[in-house]
Amino acid sequence: MLSLEQLSQMVKEHLGLCDYIDGTQYTCKWAINESPLSGRGLIATEDIMPGEVLFVDRPLIYGPRASSTVEQGCTVCAKLNSDTFYQCSKCSLLLCSEQCQNNDVHVNDCTIISRWNLKKPIEDADSSVLSRALTPIRALMLNNDQKLFMSCMQAHSLPQHGQEVRNLKQYYEIPEEEEQLMIAACCALDTNAFQIATPYGKKEMSMRGLYPVSGLMNHNCVPNTRYYFNSDLQMTVKAVKPIQAGAEIFSCYTGILWGTPARRVYLYKTKHFLCKCDRCSDPTERGTLLGALKCFSSECHGYLLPIDPLRTSSAWRCLQCEMRVPNENICAIQGALGSLMGTLNFEKVEDLESFLVDRIIKYIPKTNQIVIDLQCRLITAFGEAEGYRWHGE
Ligand SMILES: [Zn+2]
Ligand SMILES: [Zn+2]
Ligand SMILES: [Zn+2]
Ligand SMILES: [Zn+2]
Repeated sequence: MLSLEQLSQMVKEHLGLCDYIDGTQYTCKWAINESPLSGRGLIATEDIMPGEVLFVDRPLIYGPRASSTVEQGCTVCAKLNSDTFYQCSKCSLLLCSEQCQNNDVHVNDCTIISRWNLKKPIEDADSSVLSRALTPIRALMLNNDQKLFMSCMQAHSLPQHGQEVRNLKQYYEIPEEEEQLMIAACCALDTNAFQIATPYGKKEMSMRGLYPVSGLMNHNCVPNTRYYFNSDLQMTVKAVKPIQAGAEIFSCYTGILWGTPARRVYLYKTKHFLCKCDRCSDPTERGTLLGALKCFSSECHGYLLPIDPLRTSSAWRCLQCEMRVPNENICAIQGALGSLMGTLNFEKVEDLESFLVDRIIKYIPKTNQIVIDLQCRLITAFGEAEGYRWHGE
């Protein structure tokens, strides 16, 4: 384990802050320090104003996300729809063009993968096996300093982490040392990786990146920063509220518009902690009622909310008639709504609109995260659908 000083030095080198333009010392308004929340975090050393850029991070490794629901695309340019997809004859990775095949990214991937002997034909594998493991495979290209940097990131080592590498091992003879490094990369990725937002309106394979400085920020459901990516995969982190010297700098690991039950379950399953922040402790989530459900009583128009939101098994209660609903019933509804949302796929923007206006709003409160999510989808769809564009093209 590195000391805080060693880690700080590594972070500065990674961000290129040591030899900043024309020799002037870059003033960074934060430092890595002990956090009351978990181990260490980023702490402001000076007052920071909203809008100030805190740092620009770049990924140690990046690549396709490992989730089985991720649609497969070109492993170089991430393009999803192409008539010309083919698998590289040497490494079997999915490519869209000769140009992508000759790209350095592919040449590096190909060199590593084609070195491994096959145990059985990779054609027998689900085509996503290689793609899902590609991000940890790319950890094998890191230099020693970068490997050290990766190794001092927080990492969960539960058995479920690293499954993408174990799947890969069924097909390839992978040297022990390489396997270990890839598993370590998976653990660091599962704990720290950020999903890289795809540019607006562009259909691209969903990617993740291991941003080591951003990964040092602890979570808060009301973060004081936001971040965005540019086409070079750089991640800019900005303050969104005033941050006083001595205060901790937070990012949000979940969807910001998810309600408390959804955020807490996600954080528990993927990051293995139960958030107890102010937003999670407030049943109304500062009056936003993002998790609220309609009262079960047919005569009542009230909203149901958890009595004790920090207890996952808490009963819920109607704000109006005080009817109490056991947690099992709430879970059943949330489960049904979750699977319904997972299957939605609207061909036409009108179908999405009528689903929202004529159906969903009858069953769940307008403040619920599902309604908010559908409204956001509708806004995006309106911007893109023929006949609904703001600027006629
Ligand atoms: Zn491509
Ligand atoms: Zn190849
Ligand atoms: Zn929280
Ligand atoms: Zn009620």
